[in-house]
Amino acid sequence: MNKTGYIEEAEKDLLHTYNRYQIVLEKGEGVKLYDTDGKEYLDFAAGIAVCALGYSNDEYKNALKEQVDLLLHTSNLYYNAPIVKAAESVKRISKMDRVFFTNSGTEAIEGAIKAAKKYAFTRDGFAGHEVIAMNSSFHGRSIGALSVTGNAHYREPFEPLMPGVKFADFNNLDSVKAQITDKTCAIIMETVQGEGGIHPATKEFLQGVRELCDEKDILLILDEIQCGMGRTGSMFAWQAYGVKPDIMTVAKALGCGVPVGAFLMTEKVAKKSLVPGDHGTTYGGNPFVGAAVAKVIEIFERDHIEDNAKVVGEYLAKRLDEVKDKYSFVTDRRGMGLIQGLEITKKPGEVSTKCLEKGLIVITAGSNVLRFVPPLVITKDDVDEMINILTSVFDEIA
Ligand SMILES: *Cc1c(COP(=O)(O)O)cnc(C)c1O
Repeated sequence: MNKTGYIEEAEKDLLHTYNRYQIVLEKGEGVKLYDTDGKEYLDFAAGIAVCALGYSNDEYKNALKEQVDLLLHTSNLYYNAPIVKAAESVKRISKMDRVFFTNSGTEAIEGAIKAAKKYAFTRDGFAGHEVIAMNSSFHGRSIGALSVTGNAHYREPFEPLMPGVKFADFNNLDSVKAQITDKTCAIIMETVQGEGGIHPATKEFLQGVRELCDEKDILLILDEIQCGMGRTGSMFAWQAYGVKPDIMTVAKALGCGVPVGAFLMTEKVAKKSLVPGDHGTTYGGNPFVGAAVAKVIEIFERDHIEDNAKVVGEYLAKRLDEVKDKYSFVTDRRGMGLIQGLEITKKPGEVSTKCLEKGLIVITAGSNVLRFVPPLVITKDDVDEMINILTSVFDEIA
């Protein structure tokens, strides 16, 4: 079948929940992807911040192949060795105390909300607690995760959602204070808002929320699904803020392509939170994903992947600032490390389509932002190549 055939067939068979770019990707090597016509693309999206190690990393592939030959799945009724190693590794890089592995980011959010509710239930002896979430946030598409997602367009058709959620403005401490009641059990936010348009939390805000939480025994849930795993230049974005969450979610780059997420918590939370019967998953934390996570973290720690994200991220920010200064339709550049956004007054979807034609993969965020979340192994030369293609598109549309 050729490209047109695949696309026509896909549009007949798959539920139409995405307006996809008109290419069929077939293989990857390093930071390049190739479509079924053999066309090469420089990848600045990494499968939405997932493929942190790029494509076709031999060491990673071999670890997966070995595990495929041994054992894929057993269920959580038994122990397995790979997930023990994965748990130990993810605890070491996060300094959190307990972890529950999920199949996706959304499920990590579900678990985090349940963990917080159960903590408050155990502490107070009654249910009915509230959660404060942020406007313009994104936490996933299930009913629970959607309930804490501050985007009316995503929510409206599915209401009523989970009750007891109040929204505050990100980076506005007073607006968070205004939503706190006696029933508040948790405040959930992304350390760097991703889908909402690449907005890093300010230090004052995150530290202020942490203090509020400490005063009132409210749990701080940080969603590091997109910004975590080295992307900002720290293993987790919050590590650069001098705060620590009570509960944290990760996914995307955790398995570098194998579907896996996790929610983690401190021992203080774990002691009063989920116990046998409260939560579970059939696939979550199976030996296959365990082998992936353990290997990913081994490579991250040995090769200091987050240091490359910091150095190349600073270079990317500098080059994007130059682009911003050159084109009047670029109104802002925001981000940390290798999660960067360029706010433009042109349609970002049209820009990313034109980039694709010229062999560059970039994606959008929010309604007016071009998003750059490349593999964390990119080099400054890759950044230069990206900027050349991007500016050639900008020259055309200027
Ligand atoms: C992608 C994302 C999610 C949802 O993760 P899925 O794996 O798509 O379920 C949740 N939170 C943030 C910040 C994300 O970027």
